[in-house]
Amino acid sequence: MTSRRSLAGLALALGLLACTSRGGPHAAAEPSAALSSVVVPSSRASASPTSSALPMTASSSSSAPVRSDLAPPLALPDDGPIRAVDLHVDTPWRVHFKGRPKSADEGPATPALLRAGQYAAVVYPIYLPDYIHDDHPAIADADAVYATIDAIVAEHEALVPPSATVDADSVAVFVSIEGAGAFAEDITQIDRFVKRGVKFVGPVHARDNRLAGAATGKKRGGLTTLGKQFCERVYAAGGLVDVSHLSDTGFEDLRPIAKNFGAPIVATHSNARAKNKHRRNLTDKQLRVIGETGGVAGLNLHRGFLDSGDMAGVVAMVRHMVATAGVEHVALGTDFEGGSATEAIKDASKLPALAEALKKAGFSDVDVRKIFAKNALRVLAWKPAK
Ligand SMILES: [Zn+2]
Repeated sequence: MTSRRSLAGLALALGLLACTSRGGPHAAAEPSAALSSVVVPSSRASASPTSSALPMTASSSSSAPVRSDLAPPLALPDDGPIRAVDLHVDTPWRVHFKGRPKSADEGPATPALLRAGQYAAVVYPIYLPDYIHDDHPAIADADAVYATIDAIVAEHEALVPPSATVDADSVAVFVSIEGAGAFAEDITQIDRFVKRGVKFVGPVHARDNRLAGAATGKKRGGLTTLGKQFCERVYAAGGLVDVSHLSDTGFEDLRPIAKNFGAPIVATHSNARAKNKHRRNLTDKQLRVIGETGGVAGLNLHRGFLDSGDMAGVVAMVRHMVATAGVEHVALGTDFEGGSATEAIKDASKLPALAEALKKAGFSDVDVRKIFAKNALRVLAWKPAK
């Protein structure tokens, strides 16, 4: 590890690892922002319930009290560069299913671009496409994609497991599951994934499955009986159900289950339907519920989920989400590599430009830091009370 790190550091110093590939679906820019040398110590959520360096108080009127006994998985300083925690970046899909090398050095979210964008952490989904194996993805696929994520992390000096120290030059990698229909085979299997580190679990992707109806499904039904049991298992194991891609009925079905576990409702990568009518976006009522439960909705930069693709449109989306859910309840879930990133923020290195645009639009530094990282870290730290 040490020799690999120093070799990579040398390579970085020589500019050898800078992204030069243009082969991906989105244009990638050279990393440009200089990274500071601030060292950010890490503490796992389970390590110390009192070591939080983050303010945990909710300020918006729609917020439920946010549990203050949870230490965030990473402690970020209140000053210096604004670090980003991105709840959804589909790099593993590109590598596992689309033939991209494990170096992942192309596309809009290469490790070099994540560093240039001041990322502190990223959530890599184990995305299980509905259409593989004659439309029957299997639990074994989830294991295989998890191994791919481990391989991507091992390949890159900048990427570290969430238990490692995250300094200005590293990005912690958390894991989620997107489209967990395969677990209908045996819902008990989700336990070992959550115990291994999967934090967010989305029961569905684009199509309805045996666990739930999808936002873009044919029937768009709610959680099935098995799906409800599955969500209970996710919470009991310490994970959080991800409502991005879930149908509106499924969202309603989840509310009492989440309440039972004192769990925040999280949409890792969904915008506001009031600004763009796409079914993948959240209604104002859903955004309020997310706020009331202490959850977050992650801003999605996919062009088709925004009302306009320029920076003003992105800022307007954030403004609406904040006005509706509360400033403690909006995060980032860019969908880089999964969607088509909007031209205004075409890759991960442009996140600081979004921070600047939000400040220019009147958001305080404190609020931008919440949206960029602290709200996400709070839900990443969640554990069931019982
Ligand atoms: Zn998605």
